[in-house]
Amino acid sequence: MNRVRCLVLNAALGPLDYKVPEGMEVGPGHVVECPLGPRTIIGIVWESERLPGTEVPAEKLRPLRSILPVPPLSAPLRRLIEWTADYYVASLSSVARMALSSGGALKGPATITEYRLTGGMPERMTPQRHAAMEALEGEQATIRELAGIAGVSEGVLRGLVNQGVLEPVEVDCDRPFDEARPDFAQVDLSESQKIAADTLSEAVRQKKFAPYLLDGVTGSGKTETYFEPVAEALRMGRQVLVLLPEIALTENFLHRFEERFGVTPVLWHSSLKSTQRRRAWRNVANGDAQVVVGARSALFLPFRNLGFIVVDEAHETSFKQEDGVRYNARDVAVMRAHFEGIPVVLASATPALESLQMAESGVYAKLDLPSRFGGAELPDIDTIDLTEEKPPHGMWLAQRLIDGIAERLERKEQSLLFLNRRGYAPLTLCRNCGFRFQCPNCSAWLVEHRFTRRLACHHCGHETPSPAACPECGEPDCLVACGPGVERIADEVAERLPDARVFVATSDTLNSPGRAAEFIAQVEAGAIDVIVGTQLVTKGFHFPELTLVGVVDADLGLEGGDLRAGERTYQQVAQVAGRAGRGSKPGEVLIQTRHPEASVIAALAAGDRDAFYEAETEMRREAGAPPFGRWASIIISSEDEAEAREAARRIGDARPDVPDLMILGPAPAPMALLRGRYRYRLLMNARRSVQLQDVIRRWLSSIDHPSGVRVGVDVDPYSFV
Ligand SMILES: [Zn+2]
Ligand SMILES: [Zn+2]
Repeated sequence: MNRVRCLVLNAALGPLDYKVPEGMEVGPGHVVECPLGPRTIIGIVWESERLPGTEVPAEKLRPLRSILPVPPLSAPLRRLIEWTADYYVASLSSVARMALSSGGALKGPATITEYRLTGGMPERMTPQRHAAMEALEGEQATIRELAGIAGVSEGVLRGLVNQGVLEPVEVDCDRPFDEARPDFAQVDLSESQKIAADTLSEAVRQKKFAPYLLDGVTGSGKTETYFEPVAEALRMGRQVLVLLPEIALTENFLHRFEERFGVTPVLWHSSLKSTQRRRAWRNVANGDAQVVVGARSALFLPFRNLGFIVVDEAHETSFKQEDGVRYNARDVAVMRAHFEGIPVVLASATPALESLQMAESGVYAKLDLPSRFGGAELPDIDTIDLTEEKPPHGMWLAQRLIDGIAERLERKEQSLLFLNRRGYAPLTLCRNCGFRFQCPNCSAWLVEHRFTRRLACHHCGHETPSPAACPECGEPDCLVACGPGVERIADEVAERLPDARVFVATSDTLNSPGRAAEFIAQVEAGAIDVIVGTQLVTKGFHFPELTLVGVVDADLGLEGGDLRAGERTYQQVAQVAGRAGRGSKPGEVLIQTRHPEASVIAALAAGDRDAFYEAETEMRREAGAPPFGRWASIIISSEDEAEAREAARRIGDARPDVPDLMILGPAPAPMALLRGRYRYRLLMNARRSVQLQDVIRRWLSSIDHPSGVRVGVDVDPYSFV
């Protein structure tokens, strides 16, 4: 009799066996509908020998309901799902869910009705209708999506349909994308770019697993370089995946891609509309989507014929997922390439120490792009010691930095001030009674946002209008802002240089691709003199007239004792410094600090990357930190404080005694309250020889918890809060 084992998309259930009905042809990778009690759930047929389960007698098996009309998940993708679940101590189903991330796509071919403007006018024009019509210029989407775009009710739009102002269009949900042309543009590469590009193109032709580290300073032309192997994969009819850390700010990348290949690539990120999502997913699955540019979740897309993977800005910490399956996309990308048998390149100007170590030990092949493309010089970097050159009282910018900006104003050049803090001030307190505004759901202060006149928590999104009086003592006009955020720095520039046109660039102001494009256009047109921005502006931008970068507080990232604090500061400052002098004019970088002698600041000022990495490597080696040792953490949380504490205590009491493994905690997490949940942590530090995942799995499987308790495992953690 014919039976199959299925991985079902329900973390609480193990693998389940089903009977294959007469006439159904089904094999590993098929996505199927399985009966479960009175319900139907989605499952993936798996090799039964790879999924240990309890054998159910044949007569008890229920038949599969149907096979969903999508291509079966390939064996390399199934192996990736297994590896990810195993390595990150997650359930197989939670990883498999990421591969089947478009519910619509699973339903098979479909058409939908979308609407667009006809150019007609309504009989009666209202301000609402007028605004809606203006907003919908050039748009085509479902009524619901159009209502979202125009910010009006669906009823308003239905009215416009009845009046003939909007017309329905029947659309094939999965229509193919325009074809990318590998030889669309003539490219002109420098000698070192050419060597790297040829090496990667040859690797694409070889169709073998080969990991590369493409190490090049900002502005050295990494993108142009890896576009060549992308073209090679296209010529071979194979698909390409490019992972970018900040998908909201890919405008510049998309431009360059279009210039090179004649079309924009297929996008994949969390803010796609559901129709865009299913279209991308199905075209990836049938092999028609040629180049997918996406956020980390694109790693689990069901490529039919993947030939090459690029991880751009591979050192970025946003590649690490911080909830659900806590995976690092950089590492999973290498594993996907391994299972697919294809090359992968990690591109960065400031590679993660882990990646450099892999290159040094010969696991990754290293490709260097030494100089800036087009002959532009690297910027001059200098520090401003804030203990010597104190800013005026109540201000944050030293006179030398202000003078530098003033000089640029005179020369009609641009300046960028970098501070990785959104809002006006990170803390607001009452001068009268000392009251501090704290988030009710998190162990965090509320951040004042003057643009929106609100106090907001950056962890959970809690917001409240800025009050006029202290909520504790009732005293009016007694609230003071403590410390600077970007909005406050912008105010200071406006006060000290009244002629400067200042723009605050953060995720609050550049919250859509459209806004980002507008910002870029304004800077390019010279309509902005000073950009004050968070890390959002540290990468991807290329402004020829931007010749001064000021780092407002380089010490900020070094506080908090995070293992990677030094590395992150180095990467961030080096990255933002790379924004200066990208055209023919030389750039200058001024770094404000209270610790000019700290090794990371000194290395930045000297432009001595090797010295920084050497010091950092020694420090990690001594601490047994990655890549020399391993870290993992267990986070226990509950809405009930006592329940969380008790669960953490029980886990702590059951701690295994394993040689070369140190376990710290349980202790309240630094963010002891986050999004309304009380949190405890245990931290593990192990030698590389310890089978850390096996230890954790055995340990945690022996303990049951009340249903309100969540136990999360973070292997190779980046966040220690
Ligand atoms: Zn007060
Ligand atoms: Zn909060």
